[in-house]
Amino acid sequence: MSIVIDNMTKSFGGTSVLRGIDLTVETGELVALLGPSGSGKTTLLKIIAGLEWPDAGSLTVHGADWLRLAAQDRRIGFVFQHYALFPHMSVRDNIAFGLTVRPRAERPGRAVIAAKVDELLHFLQIAHLGDRYPAQLSGGQRQRVALGRALAIQPTVLLLDEPFGALDAAVRRDLRAWLRNVHEETGSTTIFVTHDQEEAFELADRVVVMGDGRIEQIGNADQIHDHPASRFVAGFMGATI
Ligand code: ADP
Repeated sequence: MSIVIDNMTKSFGGTSVLRGIDLTVETGELVALLGPSGSGKTTLLKIIAGLEWPDAGSLTVHGADWLRLAAQDRRIGFVFQHYALFPHMSVRDNIAFGLTVRPRAERPGRAVIAAKVDELLHFLQIAHLGDRYPAQLSGGQRQRVALGRALAIQPTVLLLDEPFGALDAAVRRDLRAWLRNVHEETGSTTIFVTHDQEEAFELADRVVVMGDGRIEQIGNADQIHDHPASRFVAGFMGATI
């Protein structure tokens, strides 16, 4: 599914947070939104997720006007750093959740859901954790479950907001490599928010550098490192290396 964002703006209480965003993400691409805190990355992701509404601009996903589609027709998977698992549900039930709340006509039967959950548990390498509860898992394991919950509905768009932000460096590195594999296997169109350059360049096909509500540059590691498009990009790259 290609995602096309055209001249999108958003303010909160008179403060412009998105100042005219134009961005196309191709089908199957993994794109990172990279920028300092407050640059508008999460707001852009939330608009794509349907959790915020833009003031102006359009958002098209595979030709459909995304902003006008009913939430249940959008098929978005998201993993946010603070979007916790349901603590009273087992790992299996957390992963199955998105399938059990589909409209009745589309809801798979119980056996089909169980088989799908089994498949995901194996795929995510957490087959031994299915009957545990979130409180009994490590941070890295929880984020694998969160990704399983997001993938269960076979999302057309997968959105990740600093999914490994709260984890320590070694676990982050493992999960990064693992996420890249998951992406290659599923081929889902993925947008990933981070303020961590290393994470962005290691994971993404293209990196979108944001500053103060604008896209400053889009490119791969070499393009952005060797030819920063603005003083802002040069400064940001230098400042956080
Ligand atoms: P980033 O993800 O790059 O850190 P955000 O999109 O979270 O940036 O935030 C951009 C700006 O918008 C920040 O100044 C933030 O305080 C402000 N902001 C975000 N959400 C809200 C909200 N719901 N109400 C008011 N201000 C908000």
